[in-house]
Formats: sequence, structure tokens, C-alpha cells
Amino acid sequence: MRFDVITLFPELFAPFLASGVTRRAYAGGQVDVRLWNPRDFAEGNYRRVDDRPFGGGPGMVMLAEPLARCLEAIRADRAEAAAAQAPLVLFSPIGERLTHAGVQAWSEEGRGAVLLCGRYEGVDQRFIDRHVDRQVSLGDFVLSGGEIAALALLDAVARLQPGVLHDAGSHQFDSFHPELDGLLDCPHYTRPEVWEGAPVPQPLLSGHHARIERWRREQRLLTTARHRPELLEAARSKGRLSAQDEAFLRQASDLL
Ligand code: SAH
Repeated sequence: MRFDVITLFPELFAPFLASGVTRRAYAGGQVDVRLWNPRDFAEGNYRRVDDRPFGGGPGMVMLAEPLARCLEAIRADRAEAAAAQAPLVLFSPIGERLTHAGVQAWSEEGRGAVLLCGRYEGVDQRFIDRHVDRQVSLGDFVLSGGEIAALALLDAVARLQPGVLHDAGSHQFDSFHPELDGLLDCPHYTRPEVWEGAPVPQPLLSGHHARIERWRREQRLLTTARHRPELLEAARSKGRLSAQDEAFLRQASDLL
């Protein structure tokens, strides 16, 4: 799947694309990332990509014209039929929040997207009105640019690609995954068995598969009840909690 990223700082992407388990997804082209700098589509000696805001006030605004030319070049390069055109996504605090369900949809959809990273005060609204299909936010805070949001989306999509994580399907055991009913992940432990007086929970050392799985399920239920009760409620209303789960939660209510 192909992602074309429009960014004034393409150099920020290289280390992320070359590091960690997700590198395989990028190197193998499962997630094909192409970087485009609107400065290459700007005119004049200074190759301006921004200007002062009409109405005054602080900061600069990204010019519509270099973005439009850059987008035109991307569309030509992708050579898609109009109906199958990949959406243009703008990262913005006003966008829909990025979630596991959203990432899953991107990774299954296959068409990829054109990702626009804003800078300064943002992008001339006329470009947004004309070309942007969706706006996506990382959360209720303000970044200085959309690059970190683009990297977050690419990373989350890349790790869902088949064969990218070392253990096939291990992402199915991560937080939010429908396979685990949208619950949060359980705690993890590794050697030594006792660290600074703190032992590893007994069930994990039992070698008894069913006991280990039950303990992990219970920890997921507890962690979710403590940190994100609304996710537990969502699992319950979808009928994903068994009678055994409910019995455990009733008996553990004093731990919450
Ligand atoms: N003036 C804007 C913030 C501009 S920050 C406002 O107050 O809403 C510059 C760029 O960073 C934005 O254009 C956007 O692309 C990116 N950005 C900032 N916060 C973000 C967030 N929470 N999620 C995604 N992108 C964000």
C-alpha cells in the first residue's frame, strides 16, 4: 500500500523508515512511503511555501499554490482512476482521533493515502476546502508539525502488515485488538524471576498453559477496568465478556 507524504521536512522520516521491526514493511514495499517536499513546487528564488496571515496575528500560513502543484504531481505519479483516488488526509487538531479501528481500516483498505503534514499556523483554508478528504488528529494537544502524526499512522499501519512482527500475529495480543475484545494488554515480565525483592506472578511460572491464559485474561480485565472503564463497558455491551469474566470482575471489585 502506498503512502505519499507531503512534508517540508522529509529528512525527519529517514531514521524511522530504517529502524526497528517496521523497517521490513517499508523496505519490502508492503508500506511504500514516498516523500514530497512542497518547496520543490514553489516558485521564485526563495521558493516560498508560507506567508503572513491575512487579518494579522502571529505565525505563518502554508501557501495553497505549492501544495496544489505538489498534489497534482502525486496524483499524476499514482495514476489512479478518478473513482479509486486515494484520499488526501490532513493532520490537524480538529480531525477525528486516530484509533486502533482507524489504523486497522487503513491497513486493510489497501489504497493508502496522501498524507499532508501541516507546519506553522496551518494550511490556507481554501486548499483544505478544495482538496482535503479527511482530517486526523493524534490527540488534544498541539504539535509543531504533522510529521509526528504521519509517522504515528505509518508505524501503526506497518506493524499490522503480515510478517512484520517477529511472531506472526503477535499484534493480536496488543491493546485494543478486537481479537482480545478491545481490552488493554496485560502486564509483561522477563528474567530474573525475582528483581529487587519483587517476584514474577506465580501463574506465569506454572508452565500450565490454561492457567497462564486465564491469569492474562484476568489482568486484561483488571487493567482495563482500572484505566479505561469505558472499554470494558464496550466489550460487555458487545457480549464479549464471559460468565467467568463477570464472576472474576465481581470478586475483584475491591481491587479496583
Ligand atoms: N494553529 C493550529 C495548530 C498548528 S500546528 C491550531 O491551533 O489548531 C502546525 C501543524 O501541526 C498543523 O497544521 C498540523 O498538521 C500539525 N498538528 C498539530 N497538532 C496536531 C495534532 N494534535 N494532531 C495531528 N496533527 C497536528
